[in-house]
Amino acid sequence: MTRGSAAREGLWLDGREAAPARGRYSPVLNPATGRVIARVAEGDEADVGRAIAAAQRALEGPWSRLGPRERARGLFHLAALVRGRRDELARLETINTGKPIRDSRDEADGVADCFEYYAGAIGKYFGETIPVGKRGLDFTLREPVGACALIVPWNYPMMIASWKLAPALACGNTVVLKPASYTPLTALRLARWAGEAGIPAGVFNVVTGPGSTVGESLAAHPGVAKVSFTGSTEVGARISRAAAGTIKRVSLELGGKSPNIVFEDADLDRCVGMSAASVFSNTGQDCCARSRAIVHEKVLRRFLDRLVRRTRTYVIGDPLRPETELGPMISVQQRSKVIDYIGIGKKEGARLVCGGNVPKGSLARGAYLTPAVFSNVRMSMRVAREEIFGPVLCVFSFKTEKEAVRLANATEYGLSGSIWTRDVGRALRVARAVRSGVLSVNSSSSVHLEAPFGGAKRSGFGRELGMKAMDIYSEVKNVFISEE
Ligand code: NAD
Repeated sequence: MTRGSAAREGLWLDGREAAPARGRYSPVLNPATGRVIARVAEGDEADVGRAIAAAQRALEGPWSRLGPRERARGLFHLAALVRGRRDELARLETINTGKPIRDSRDEADGVADCFEYYAGAIGKYFGETIPVGKRGLDFTLREPVGACALIVPWNYPMMIASWKLAPALACGNTVVLKPASYTPLTALRLARWAGEAGIPAGVFNVVTGPGSTVGESLAAHPGVAKVSFTGSTEVGARISRAAAGTIKRVSLELGGKSPNIVFEDADLDRCVGMSAASVFSNTGQDCCARSRAIVHEKVLRRFLDRLVRRTRTYVIGDPLRPETELGPMISVQQRSKVIDYIGIGKKEGARLVCGGNVPKGSLARGAYLTPAVFSNVRMSMRVAREEIFGPVLCVFSFKTEKEAVRLANATEYGLSGSIWTRDVGRALRVARAVRSGVLSVNSSSSVHLEAPFGGAKRSGFGRELGMKAMDIYSEVKNVFISEE
């Protein structure tokens, strides 16, 4: 890394920093100020080739053959480095994404937790013996898939990277991580620290650069055995097509338009605060955002009044300040997309109750936007169906349980959702009827390190987190030994 007015960061290949083949570097911005904070290598197809060659060489090396305790040691060591340098990592994430520093600290802790969890999982994940028809012994082995491409988005850069890295490495694979162009800094830092933690060179490589070149060529490259992707549904479809040619294993975590169903018996005190947080945290840039509140008509007025009151009191500002609750969006381009959606919603006849403004004064240089609430929304509107990926909530009302379920399912997505009711029977019925990969009752928590996470319908397939993630990063081999 060379220091100038902004730090210059190369690729991370085969255990060391490397210049990109074409020698190009792109500026990386702080979305809170618009300032350039680093210049990062703009990789291309040739760099992808170098990274995959390093990952394949490393597959022959010791990593995949290490005993479970030795491999675990590397991941525990990396977790300890992350924990010890938590504030450094959190600060880097905040100046690169604009997310409030308290959130980045929690996410840095989450990264360390994730490496620890999968370090501990290594020795507890194994094959089985199976009684078969022939005389002999039949058993399965869990083997690494090979060199894995891990392609991640900009909304939770280090956390989503760790959800892929930790189980992929735990299963003995080698990886090429491709961070989003906006947010490459924490990925590069983690790769550097992996080397310090004793994870061998070539096991963990990073290629930065545009999705259209680096991402596409990773998805198509014959040397990649598996692609794990988190991002938009549109790019997920492109990746599936590119990966099909070489029958790669593919897992996809894609977009969402998740429902937040509020019944008339809900504990509104608890529900309102969590409902606001579940759509506005991370300035709405969350795949699990409960961006459709589906509220029983009897409590609609009370819910909306309280929710709007809460929305207006968010502390928006410099993400490095500890009291800040909402930082800027990732970029002014992303903000423009959201502002366009707010215009579309108004034209379609939805009522903008609050928000959707660009703050002036000291925040004018950043990509800030005040959180917005639409009422009188119908499912025929684009704002009701399309993922906005910004701080915009659409509120609907319903009369019957059946209608609530119909509204919840009236989208092509199926990632997450919440159900608010004190009636256990109803909670169970509705949880079964809503088609999504993840649901919570009387809570807005979608993500638990120990439990499977992923989408139904066009929100993707494959499950990350928990022990299920070990399945998508390993291959089952069946062996039969004859007694004869
Ligand atoms: P994106 O799809 O534009 O980009 C995601 C990653 O893919 C980036 O690294 C990008 O550079 C790369 N990419 C872009 N074009 C590519 C191509 N043609 N081939 C290969 N790679 C390519 O998404 P984004 O804007 O970074 O993130 C927002 C989206 O991600 C939203 O739709 C959101 O819902 C989704 N997301 C989903 C989850 C989940 O777990 N389901 C989590 C976070 C974000």
